[in-house]
Amino acid sequence: MFTKFKQNNIIYQGVVTRLNNNNIRKVKAMAVKIFIDAGHGGTNPGAVGNGVIESEVNLSVATQLAQDLRDMGYDVREYRTTNDENVISPVAADLRKRAAEANNWGADYFISIHTNSSTNPAANGFETYVYNLNSTSARLAESIQRSVIASLGMKDNGVRQANFSVLRNTAMPAVLVELGYLSNPTEAMNLNSSAWRTKIAAAIAEGINNFIKG
Ligand SMILES: [Zn+2]
Repeated sequence: MFTKFKQNNIIYQGVVTRLNNNNIRKVKAMAVKIFIDAGHGGTNPGAVGNGVIESEVNLSVATQLAQDLRDMGYDVREYRTTNDENVISPVAADLRKRAAEANNWGADYFISIHTNSSTNPAANGFETYVYNLNSTSARLAESIQRSVIASLGMKDNGVRQANFSVLRNTAMPAVLVELGYLSNPTEAMNLNSSAWRTKIAAAIAEGINNFIKG
């Protein structure tokens, strides 16, 4: 029997191995494992707009998200904690490596952090991508979407389907968030601010936690 419970602020999930005399469930305790993928890095900056660099925004928000999730009791692994760490060329191989690391670790959830750009400077808002809209990934994405929109008041671009490598090649529920548009002057300014980054990371963590506790 599979179970999920919270004790001393740590969320455990696993298979019940026995019941003791008090009928208290004993599980093979294992904190939920979340893999955080800060998009781009190395020689690949991703999008650049209004003087703000995507790979740097992604890393900053991903680092704070990882810390927030650890504070909530989750077991978190980060693909990169510096600009260059772990990043290889070409990009296609790098993307496959990100998914493979999460698969090999046995992650329960995969969260990829990206920042958007458009040729239209008016484009704005927060959106999440999943491989299949009829999936656990999509329900996780909806929870993140709700939390971020409520906390930051951004335009809700919703949950969208995309055939992205990291979403296709991961074996667990996987979501790719787009934090906003660097091509939009207001959103670029927000994404360049440490207060905004802290707030959006906290909102993403809350959305993940709400879904897992659900
Ligand atoms: Zn990106």
